[in-house]
Amino acid sequence: METKGKKKRAGRGTRGELLRQNRELKKKIIRFCRERGVDLVGFAPVERWDESGEVPADFRPRAIWPPAKTVIVMGLGMPLPIVETTPSVVHMEMYKTANAELDQLAYDLTRFLNRLGHASFFFPRDGYSSMKALRENNRAAFAHIPAARYAGLGTVGASHNLLTPEFGPRVRFVSVFTSAEIPPDPMIEKDLCIKCEACAKCCPKKAIRMRSDRVVGDYDDQACLEMAEELVARRCFPCGICTKVCPIGKVRNIYKQPGVMKKYLGEAEALAANPEDPEYKTWTHLRKYGVARGRKQGAGKE
Ligand code: SF4
Ligand code: SF4
Repeated sequence: METKGKKKRAGRGTRGELLRQNRELKKKIIRFCRERGVDLVGFAPVERWDESGEVPADFRPRAIWPPAKTVIVMGLGMPLPIVETTPSVVHMEMYKTANAELDQLAYDLTRFLNRLGHASFFFPRDGYSSMKALRENNRAAFAHIPAARYAGLGTVGASHNLLTPEFGPRVRFVSVFTSAEIPPDPMIEKDLCIKCEACAKCCPKKAIRMRSDRVVGDYDDQACLEMAEELVARRCFPCGICTKVCPIGKVRNIYKQPGVMKKYLGEAEALAANPEDPEYKTWTHLRKYGVARGRKQGAGKE
């Protein structure tokens, strides 16, 4: 006959075995991501959505897919020299490629987890079908930015972008939900945003307003959407100027660009005065070709 003590030990053993299996599963997922070229991966327990309470209840993982216990967030970096050309066909193509790659990764990781016996689900990179859909209802059914924050990948900056230590905001995310309880990653506590105001100053629609009482700024989503609509009409969506000018991200070190912040901050004015300003030639050349011009030439304030 099994004694009470033995039962307790058996219970602990089963729990311990489950923890060991989940640690092993985490290693397998990280290996999958490394082999597939994923730049960032983090693990968030679904309770973090409830604990923080920032995301409305219907938009939390368990409301979308009740078996979810962990959200795995994968990120792909957006190389800075291409982001700097925005708005351009070069930037648009990279953006589309990153989104397609993220959806493929999420689809493949979901099937990989299912094959290992863990029920899984993914939410695609962009949860909207058109600008008209966004104009009617300006949000997706699930947001990757809080998911990436809860998965320990970064903090939200003044621009409302997620800033990561590695890439700043020049990174795109996708989220996979799984019924497995995978050991979580710690969240980053210290804000990465240094409130330099570059995003607010360079936004062509003045959609970002700095706040003195907190890091995250006020954000005019309708003004940003207006910019997006203009760029979609010209076939060089998205804008992304607020991601381009953000100084955060260790990856900047590989590009060695002394004085680049001054260059960003002076761009709109310089190009308004002289669209052929040689200082900006490498970017304006790429903006000139392959897309409709729109009403005005130049960077940002178009
Ligand atoms: S994407 Fe462009 S318009 Fe929107 S907030 Fe950023 S800089 Fe402003
Ligand atoms: S540009 Fe400056 S203020 Fe804006 S998010 Fe980046 S660090 Fe923060």
